[in-house]
Amino acid sequence: MRVDIITIFPNMFSAVLGESIIKRAQEKGKVKIFVHDLRLYTLDKHHKVDDRPFGGGSGMLLQAEPIFRAVQAIKKKVKGKSKVILLCPQGKIFDQKYAKKLSKCGNLIFICGHYEGVDERVRQYLADEEVSIGDYVLTGGELPAMVLVDSIVRLIPGVLGDKNSLNFESFEGNLLEYPQYSRPAKFRKWIVPEVLVSGAHDKISAWRKSEALKRTRQRRPDLLKRQG
Ligand code: SAM
Repeated sequence: MRVDIITIFPNMFSAVLGESIIKRAQEKGKVKIFVHDLRLYTLDKHHKVDDRPFGGGSGMLLQAEPIFRAVQAIKKKVKGKSKVILLCPQGKIFDQKYAKKLSKCGNLIFICGHYEGVDERVRQYLADEEVSIGDYVLTGGELPAMVLVDSIVRLIPGVLGDKNSLNFESFEGNLLEYPQYSRPAKFRKWIVPEVLVSGAHDKISAWRKSEALKRTRQRRPDLLKRQG
């Protein structure tokens, strides 16, 4: 997979992309991630990327021209089709199902808005999809882009050491994960459920299924009504 991120704050990405599983995924060649500074795609000598909205109003908007130029330049370098995603609080809400769908794309281009957002023509004529990470407004699309990259890349086959970690985690089969414990079996006065230290795999598996169901009913009954 190849991911290209267009932003006016490229330095924001180094910590997230340069650590842990996402770093190793790049080292293993599972994903190539390129962060592009939008200012390099401007035509004027001051590298201006924003301007005031027509009709008045507060704040500045990222202009269409550099964003179109950046996407065009990236598409020229990429083999095959790319999906262009605009991070946007008005977009489709991101979830695990959406992450799975995007993890099967060969090439993704993320556009991070900032300030008051982006010129509407980016949304209308450039983006294939608009994605929101939740019903709240952030200062920019950088954190949402990192959220998407993290959740998508861990789903690429071979990125996680144990592929079973994907089968038994929250949202699989529309369930939340069962409770998990580690050593010691007794911590202060709290003891791990006996079944988990019994070594009886059938019983452990049945316990986990019923706990996952119980937890989902308590916390997210909406998940149980979902299809697929
Ligand atoms: N004026 C816009 C509105 O009311 O819809 C909000 C712009 S927001 C301050 C600036 C940028 O942050 C957006 O263009 C988008 O890229 C990003 N952003 C903010 N909240 C987001 C969210 N919940 N999901 C995805 N992107 C978000």
